[in-house]
Amino acid sequence: MNPARVIAAACAALFCAFAQAPASAADSGTLERALDRAFERYADLEEGEVADYIPALAAADPDRFGLVAMTVDGDLIARGDTEVPFAIMSAAKPFTLALLMQQSGPDIVREKIGVEPTGMPFNSLIGIDRGQRHGLNPMVNAGAIVTVSLIDAATPEQRWSRILGFYQSLAGAGLDIMADVYASVGVSNFRNRAIVNLLENNGWLGADPVETLDVYNRQSCVAVTARQLATMGATLANAGVNPVTEKRVMDAANVDEVLAVMMLAGMYDESGTWAFAAGIPAKSGVGGGIVAIVPGRMAIVGFSPRLSATGNSVRAMRAITDIARDESLGLFQP
Ligand code: GLN
Repeated sequence: MNPARVIAAACAALFCAFAQAPASAADSGTLERALDRAFERYADLEEGEVADYIPALAAADPDRFGLVAMTVDGDLIARGDTEVPFAIMSAAKPFTLALLMQQSGPDIVREKIGVEPTGMPFNSLIGIDRGQRHGLNPMVNAGAIVTVSLIDAATPEQRWSRILGFYQSLAGAGLDIMADVYASVGVSNFRNRAIVNLLENNGWLGADPVETLDVYNRQSCVAVTARQLATMGATLANAGVNPVTEKRVMDAANVDEVLAVMMLAGMYDESGTWAFAAGIPAKSGVGGGIVAIVPGRMAIVGFSPRLSATGNSVRAMRAITDIARDESLGLFQP
């Protein structure tokens, strides 16, 4: 081989070595830069509207914006409003599902709730006409309300204390209800009242409908900071062990089913768009929080109260998507 060829071969080998360096081997420096870029890029974005169907939510400061990544080692990267409490709302749903699976295993979810994102037959026209998803899945209200009703407890108070206690173990912190939001839900919430009545009518609830709805409302009104929500998510990413307290909160065996359901329906009618763009399981809440999980690696939380028409935080969606893409975190990457 002549010298020019040797050099060319060496260059090619070097190039291959670089090209094959695992794109996902994001060290904390690159992750930090990805968070910085995403935070700066969307800091001034004002797209979306604060939720107002629960009157007290309309009082949220629309300009709040926080981003947190917590790794399975408990390392924390935080930008912006990550210590401001907000109502967890639907971002609570995967965690109550996790508790149910801890108590009763995965079969109860398949048998009594369902895990289908649309709940409709393959040739259904209804979805086209209604433009809305329905059917039971623990990530949407009907399925989430059934999930609450199935939590094993002798009384509503015990059901609530088990749910809150579980959230606290996941967050590694004491958590409380946002009293103003809870009071506000109590005088509105008419769709959920309709849902719980229909569920009771169909015989699908595991507990009294009025009490079930009240516990569901309390779970939605739990106040979390972005950092606390990230710790809850990082516990899922870390196969059930809280990376901060280092305590096992749930069995590793129950984690992947929870993440599967999040992947399929965690972002409501934007779940497909989300999977396409970000490629990681996530759950949003109308309080403005989104918790996204990279199994075995980290949780990323975005908090910003302005929501898309679907009810997902616009800035949190954009920022987490950018971080996932910058750091090649998507689960479907070859
Ligand atoms: N608890 C709220 C509700 O049921 C949660 C909705 C949400 O965050 N999308 O209306």
